[in-house]
Amino acid sequence: MTQVLFVVSECAPLIKTGGLADVAGALPSALAACGDRVRVLLPGYRVVLEKLGKSQVVASFGDLFGGPAKLRACEVAGLDVLVIDAPHLYDRAGGIYADMSGQDWPDNPERFAALSFVAASVAGGCVTGWTPEIVHGHDWQAGLVPEYLQGAGVDVPFVFTVHNIAFHGNAPADKLEALGLERGRFTPEHFEFWGQISALKAALTGAEKITTVSQTYAQELLTPAFGMGMEGVLGDRQGDLVGIVNGIDEDVWDPANDPEIKPYTTPAGKAANKLALQKRFGLGRANGPLCVLVSRLTEQKGIDLLLEALPAFLERGGQLALLGSGDTKLELTLLEAGARDSNVSVKIGYDEALSHLMMAGADAILVPSRFEPCGLTQLYALRYGTVPVVALTGGLADTVINASPAAMARGVATGVQFFPVTGQAFGNALGRLGDLYGQPKIWRAMQRNAMKQPVGWQVSAAEYHAIYARLVEARG
Ligand code: ADP
Repeated sequence: MTQVLFVVSECAPLIKTGGLADVAGALPSALAACGDRVRVLLPGYRVVLEKLGKSQVVASFGDLFGGPAKLRACEVAGLDVLVIDAPHLYDRAGGIYADMSGQDWPDNPERFAALSFVAASVAGGCVTGWTPEIVHGHDWQAGLVPEYLQGAGVDVPFVFTVHNIAFHGNAPADKLEALGLERGRFTPEHFEFWGQISALKAALTGAEKITTVSQTYAQELLTPAFGMGMEGVLGDRQGDLVGIVNGIDEDVWDPANDPEIKPYTTPAGKAANKLALQKRFGLGRANGPLCVLVSRLTEQKGIDLLLEALPAFLERGGQLALLGSGDTKLELTLLEAGARDSNVSVKIGYDEALSHLMMAGADAILVPSRFEPCGLTQLYALRYGTVPVVALTGGLADTVINASPAAMARGVATGVQFFPVTGQAFGNALGRLGDLYGQPKIWRAMQRNAMKQPVGWQVSAAEYHAIYARLVEARG
């Protein structure tokens, strides 16, 4: 049994902007089933503090990057959380990373340095009665942990998971002092990245083990096309880098027991949900497949490729229901596409409950990402018998079995993959989807295959468990 401290900037169901929160929310209980105990250290954003029940103050800080702070321990939503109650850093209206206008908070370096600093303090024993044997940080917000561990002389193994290498958490060099970092370590071997402080690089150079969220992404990260400038750093750490695919919370995403849908256990049960979904999105009946897309709307997610591939798909009788928010220009272009065609319906916003109905009611889900470390929506879709159409990249490559002749002959196909990641190839994939949808026996078989595919955390949690155990054992 290993005592583990997760260090993470979001955790479902307390606070979520993307897949990182789902992982932080679901992996602890999967690890508990392996015998480990995970406590999750989170910033005390206003929304998080509002959701905490009775908490206990387990540590205090007189001056945590500009003000006093308390560390609160609490059990909430099946999670054992430690929350940093530091109003000067986290108690504000707006997003958790950016203000209402979408501008990053100017003090993000301090806000997440504080998260990493408190993690190192917990590892150093500031919480009476509990110290972790492993500190496990997630993405750049936890990146400075090894620097603070080293500064405090605390020797606890640090594991780091890359959920998305695109976010570096850079800060200007003149923040060295404000962040309490050692000037002597501001070098390319540690956390200097082209003259800036890079929290991500601090983690990549300082972690004992680096994991990322799929095997294909682990390979991709070593290339200039995907490594976002960190491919060299990771190349030096190749022996310590491993890909472990994400799972999903099978209790939250369970078509047989989902309060947001008409529950079902076979593909036939999707029909009633499809009608409900069409109604909800104001779509009529159609001959082709009803596709959904649930996503942040950013360049990464290939929304422009969708816009390119869409006309031919609609001409063949397809429908699209899309839920997302993000880039204003993409939002407007999508709304225009919806206004032009009665078989396209777009909802801008974030709606967890609606996303469940979309998984249940759709025939197919579209994930045309330019890069996708793991991707979760295709995993939910598989469980709900919804056929994924995905770009051949990252976790999308590892979790979907393409309807190739060989896979069809063996009866194992679960979706359609396309490569290269272009609008044209995506259009061809949608054409293929239409062909498959037009053959009911084959289509049903794919839906059944999808529903059978294991997408839970069991296997991957066991891999994390083994990593922790090896590191603890090596310390003796
Ligand atoms: P990323 O972390 O890059 O955003 P993932 O596919 O790993 O992508 O995870 C995205 C998560 O956020 C999924 O749980 C998805 O269902 C959810 N999500 C994204 N956008 C929305 C939205 N507009 N409404 C509801 N859920 C959303």
